[in-house]
Amino acid sequence: MRAQPQASHYINGAFVEDMEGEPLDVLYPATAEIIARVHLATPNIVEQAVEAARKAQPAWARLKPVERGRILRRAAEILRARNEELARLETLDTGKALQETLVADPASAADALEFFGCAIASWNGDHVDLGGPFGYTRREPLGVCVGIGAWNYPIQIAAWKAAPALAAGNAMIFKPSENTPLSALTLAEIFTEAGLPAGLFNVVQGTGEVGTALVSHPEVAKVSLTGSVGTGKRVLALAGEHMKHATMELGGKSPLIVFDDADVENAVSGAMLGNFYSTGQICSNGTRVFLQKGIYDRFLERLTQRTRAIRIGDPLDPETHLGPLISEAQRERVLSYIELGKREGAHLHLGGGVPNLQGLEKGFFVEPTIFTNVRDDMRIAREEIFGPVMCVLSFESEQEVVARANDTEFGLAAGVFTRDLARAHRVIAALQAGTCWINTYNLTPVELPFGGVKSSGIGRENALAALDHYSQLKSVYVETGNVESPY
Ligand code: NDP
Repeated sequence: MRAQPQASHYINGAFVEDMEGEPLDVLYPATAEIIARVHLATPNIVEQAVEAARKAQPAWARLKPVERGRILRRAAEILRARNEELARLETLDTGKALQETLVADPASAADALEFFGCAIASWNGDHVDLGGPFGYTRREPLGVCVGIGAWNYPIQIAAWKAAPALAAGNAMIFKPSENTPLSALTLAEIFTEAGLPAGLFNVVQGTGEVGTALVSHPEVAKVSLTGSVGTGKRVLALAGEHMKHATMELGGKSPLIVFDDADVENAVSGAMLGNFYSTGQICSNGTRVFLQKGIYDRFLERLTQRTRAIRIGDPLDPETHLGPLISEAQRERVLSYIELGKREGAHLHLGGGVPNLQGLEKGFFVEPTIFTNVRDDMRIAREEIFGPVMCVLSFESEQEVVARANDTEFGLAAGVFTRDLARAHRVIAALQAGTCWINTYNLTPVELPFGGVKSSGIGRENALAALDHYSQLKSVYVETGNVESPY
C-alpha cells in the first residue's frame, strides 16, 4: 500500500523536496506498514516558505473579498468531488475508520472553505457616528500566519485554519503533525487547482523544532496551534515573546452529564460518539460521563451491550467502526492509563486489552474500554488519555455535578442530556467550557464557534468568530469640519 506524495513540502504553488532534511517514514497505523517517506524541513525550506508567503500576501489582500471567496468555494467543490480518494488517504494516514473519514474529514474541510468563501464578502468594518465627524473601522489581515496541526483530523485542521486565514487576506504556512504529513499536501494542490495564487498556502513538514522556527520567524504575524496543553503553553509563550497573535486549540477532559430523565438511547449514543469516535482521539470528547443515580443501571446496561457490538478491524473495511490509534507510542500511553486506572481502584467494566485481529497483529489497536467506580481524584478522571477510554461516574444532585464537572484545569467542551430544557440551559450556563451540547455530543458545524476556556485554549475556530482571530482592526477618524486647536 503506497501513498507517496510527489515531494515532502509544498511551497510557492509547487511541490518541493530537500533531501538534506531528516527522513520520516509514514505508517499505516492498522498494519505499521510504511506507506510513504517524507523529509523534515531544513532551515532553508522554512525560509523558502516564509519568503513565498510574504511575497504573495499583499496582492491577495488587495483582491476584493468576493474574489478571494470564489477561489475558496471552488476549492470546496474540488474537495467534495475528490471526497472518496481523500477519505482513503486520511484513513491510511490516521488509521481512522473509512466510514468516518468518508463523512467527516474532507467534508468538514469543504464546509469550512465554503462557509468562509461565502461569509467574507459581507464581513466588513463598522461605521461610527461621531456627531458630525465620523469614524470607521477596517478589518485588515495580519500577514503571514502559521498553522500547526495535531494528528487526529489532519485535513480538517488544515482547512479550519487556512479557510478563515485566506478569506481574511492572509497567507498561511501549515505544518502538519509529523504523524500525518500527507493530506495537507493534497489540500495545497487543490488550492492551486482552484486558482489560489502561488505562495498563499504552503506546507512544510517537521517536528516541534520546525514549528518553533516558524513561530519565532520575524516575518510571521500569527500562530494557530491545535495540540496538547503542554505544547500550547510553550507555543503561546514563544508567540508572546515576539508579540504575535495566537490561537490555541488544546486538549480537554470534558464532562458529559446524563440526568435521570434523559432519553437513554440518545444519551448512550452521545457517550459512545464522545468516547469512541476516531478511536477516542478527539479533543472535545466527553470522557467523564456523569450518570445520575436513577438512570445509572439502565444506561450502563445499554452502553455495555452497544459497546460490545462495536466492530474493530481494518479501517479500510467500510463495515469497521473502530480503527487503531495513531502510533505505537500513543497505544503505549493509552494502555498505561488503563493499567493506572486499575491500580487506582477503578473497576475495568469492559475492554482494556489489545484485540487479536488476524492480519493486523502489528497495528496499534486497543479495545473500547469502560471504567466504572471512577472517583474524581483519580488520574484517569483528571488527565487527557486521547484513546477509547470512558470513565463512568455517578452523581445525585445538579449542584453537585456542576461543581464536580468544573473541577478541572480544562474547559474545552461539555454536554448535558435531559428532557428538562430549563435545567439543560441552567446547567450549560454554569459549566466552564467553550463548546457545549444539549441532548447530543461532539457535533461541530462550521457555523458555530469552536474552542476552549481555561487551559483548553484561547481564541476560536469556525464561524465569524474565527475571522476576528485572523485580522486586526484599524480605526479611522474622519473630520468633516475645521480642526479645533488652542494654538
Ligand atoms: P502535540 O501537542 O504533541 O503536537 C501538536 C502539534 O504541535 C504537532 O504538529 C507538533 O509537531 C507541534 N509541536 C510540538 N511541539 C512544538 C513546539 N515546541 N513548537 C511548535 N510546534 C510544536 O499534540 P498531538 O499531535 O499529540 O495531538 C494531540 C493533542 O491535540 C491532544 O491533547 C488533543 O486534545 C489536542 N487536540 C486539540 C484539538 C482542539 O481543537 N482543541 C483538536 C485535536 C487535538 P509534531 O507532532 O510533528 O512533533
